[in-house]
Amino acid sequence: MALAAPLSILYRGPLSSCNYACPYCPFAKHTESPAQHQHDAQALTRFTDWVAAQTSALSVLFTPWGEALVRPRYQQAISRLSQLAHLEQVAIQTNLSGRLAWLQDADRSKVGLWATFHPGEVSLERFLGRCSELDALGVRYSVGVVGRKSHFAALAELRSALPAHVYLWVNAFKVGGLGTGPGAGSGYYTAADLAFLNAIDPLFEINTRRYPVRGQRCGAGESAISVDGDGTVRRCHFLQRPLGNLYSGPLEALLQPRPCTRAFCECHIGYVHLPQLQSAEVYGAGLLARIPEGPQWADPAAYLERARQLMSAPQASAAG
Ligand code: SF4
Ligand code: SF4
Repeated sequence: MALAAPLSILYRGPLSSCNYACPYCPFAKHTESPAQHQHDAQALTRFTDWVAAQTSALSVLFTPWGEALVRPRYQQAISRLSQLAHLEQVAIQTNLSGRLAWLQDADRSKVGLWATFHPGEVSLERFLGRCSELDALGVRYSVGVVGRKSHFAALAELRSALPAHVYLWVNAFKVGGLGTGPGAGSGYYTAADLAFLNAIDPLFEINTRRYPVRGQRCGAGESAISVDGDGTVRRCHFLQRPLGNLYSGPLEALLQPRPCTRAFCECHIGYVHLPQLQSAEVYGAGLLARIPEGPQWADPAAYLERARQLMSAPQASAAG
């Protein structure tokens, strides 16, 4: 396969178990049987073998339904991918509860961890201990929290305890939908809440919106794709129509610019692929792990303005 430009792949295999039980978890939880674990392991091996066999520049973000990084097979997969010459970045969403010593075997310059702190499931001290381990290992990571009001105290503690270089993101708590206006929150957040959250996370405003994207050009399906355990390729996790299969036929034939057919896009893993936002200017190589390290991170005002303008862009009226 020879691709014209670097491609980001969001991989989500069948694994859906988790060692936590967050009340706000969007995913259904279950305990896998040995056969289901084997199925997940086979899918993961097939995917990593495929990545290893490529020559074009690739980046991979694991976005599991549950917690995968407690499983040695995912640790080994990330370590293996990080050592491939054509692999630019490998990242994973994790609750950071698993052991981290395996990272000593990885090319840590390419690994990024998207770590979420879940109050009620783990103590702040234990979570911060894991962050210190990452700092000692020289592994890049972001830390985030779901922005429920009951988490505000933990957010303040996290911000004061984490090293200044660690980005602390807040996911807007989208109870009943956030509407489409700047800082919209269906009344969930007060003005004082928004001021607090904007002070914690300079990019919080970006996450408060549901971007009206129907008819808008999006890099999902061109510079980024979603792949499941069977190899089914989709534009992103939010559009179900398959483009094809990773393991049959040339991938480059599936990649092309397309307008979005969905009404709204509201998750970081989706809207960062909208070219209008130029998210790479803020995130740089940390885009997939949600680690802002691009040239506009020092002053993200232009990014916030681009996001506001996207809210007022003319929209197509029907799905294609
Ligand atoms: S850690 Fe993540 S996957 Fe696990 S229960 Fe909490 S929100 Fe769900
Ligand atoms: S705008 Fe969002 S929903 Fe639409 S294609 Fe892009 S990532 Fe997918």
